[in-house]
Amino acid sequence: MTVFNFSAGPAVLPVPVLLKAQSELLNYQGSGQSVLELSHRSDLFETILHETESLLRELMDIPDEYRVLFLQGGATLQFSMLPLNLATNRQMVDFIDTGSWSQKAIKDAQAYATTRILASSASDGYRSIPVEAVTSDADYLHITWNNTLEGTTYTKAPQVGVPLVADFSSSILSEPIDIRQFDVIYAGAQKNLGSAGMTLVIIKDELLQRTPQSSGSYLRYDTHAKHHSLYNTPPTYSIYLTKLVLEWIKEQGFETVVQRNRQQAAALYTYLDQSTLFSNAVAISDRSRMNIPFSTGQVDLDTQFLKFAERNQLVNLKGHRSVGGMRASLYNAMPNSGVDALLSVLHRFEQGER
Ligand code: PMP
Repeated sequence: MTVFNFSAGPAVLPVPVLLKAQSELLNYQGSGQSVLELSHRSDLFETILHETESLLRELMDIPDEYRVLFLQGGATLQFSMLPLNLATNRQMVDFIDTGSWSQKAIKDAQAYATTRILASSASDGYRSIPVEAVTSDADYLHITWNNTLEGTTYTKAPQVGVPLVADFSSSILSEPIDIRQFDVIYAGAQKNLGSAGMTLVIIKDELLQRTPQSSGSYLRYDTHAKHHSLYNTPPTYSIYLTKLVLEWIKEQGFETVVQRNRQQAAALYTYLDQSTLFSNAVAISDRSRMNIPFSTGQVDLDTQFLKFAERNQLVNLKGHRSVGGMRASLYNAMPNSGVDALLSVLHRFEQGER
C-alpha cells in the first residue's frame, strides 16, 4: 500500500534513497558485507563518513573554520552538551523562547548555567517569532530556528554579539542559510537528513577551546572533532543513509529542492487561507515551510478529518497533543503528489464528503 507520510519525524524518505539502500543492503560495493556490518574503522566506512561530510560541506557551503560532527543522543543531548561545553565563562546562557523545543533546551541548560529568556512569543500562543531586538552578554544565545510543533520559523538570524547557537532539527537543508551567521548549528537526522540515530553538529573551530577539562570524553565537542566523529562507534547506518539523502539532493540540485519546498508550502497555505473550514493561525511572516499546523477549530471535526485522510492514504497528520488539530510536515522528501493528494482530500472534506 502506498501512503503519503506527513509525520514530523522520523519522517518520509525519498523513494530513490530507500531503493538504493535496499540494493546495497546485502553486499555493499562488492565487499560481500552489508553497511550494517561494516566496522567503523574499515576503509569502506571511513569513505562513507568522508563523503557524507564533503557533500554536506558542499551543499550547505560550510566554511573551513567550522567542524562537522556526527554524534548520537538526538538533538536532545545537545540541550545538555551545549551548556556543558560552551557556558564556561559566565555560566550564563540566553534564549529566545519560541515554544516547546526552546523550553526543553532551557530546562536542560539550567543544570549547567543560569538561563535568561531575552524574548518570548508565549503571549501570542507561540504563533510568531519575537520581533524585539535583543542584546546579550551571556556565553551564547540559543534559538530554535524552526518550531516543529508550533509551525513557526525564523527567516533572519538575530545578531547579538555573542555566539549564536541554533536548533535546526526540523529545517536543516530545506533552505539556503549563511553558516557564518551562526556559531553552532545542530539537528537530528530523522527529518531532512535521513534516519533516527545520527545528530549533526556544525561548530565553529574556536569554540572547541571552551570545554572544561573535567568533562567526560563523549560529552566534549573537542573529542569528536579531534577524532573526526570516530572516537567511539558512530551511528554508521544512519550516517550512510544521510550520505544517500545528500546524493539525492545533489543530483537534483539543492535549488530545485528549495523551490519545491517553497511551492508546496505556498500551495497549502493558499488553500488554508481561502478555506472557510480549515485555518492556520501562524503570523504570515513567520510561517514554517516544513511543519504546517491547521485545524477546523472543532475537536470532533478534526478527528473526522484525520479519519477521512487516513482512509485516503494520508497518514500521520495528527497535530502534536500540545497544539491539537492537524499538522502537515512537508520535509524535502515529500513529493508534489503528496501535497496534491492532501489538497484534494482537504477540498473534498470541505465539500462535505466523509
Ligand atoms: N528540537 C526540535 C526543533 C525538534 O523538532 C526535535 C524533535 N522533534 C528535537 C529538538 C528533539 O530531537 P531528538 O528527538 O532527536 O532528540
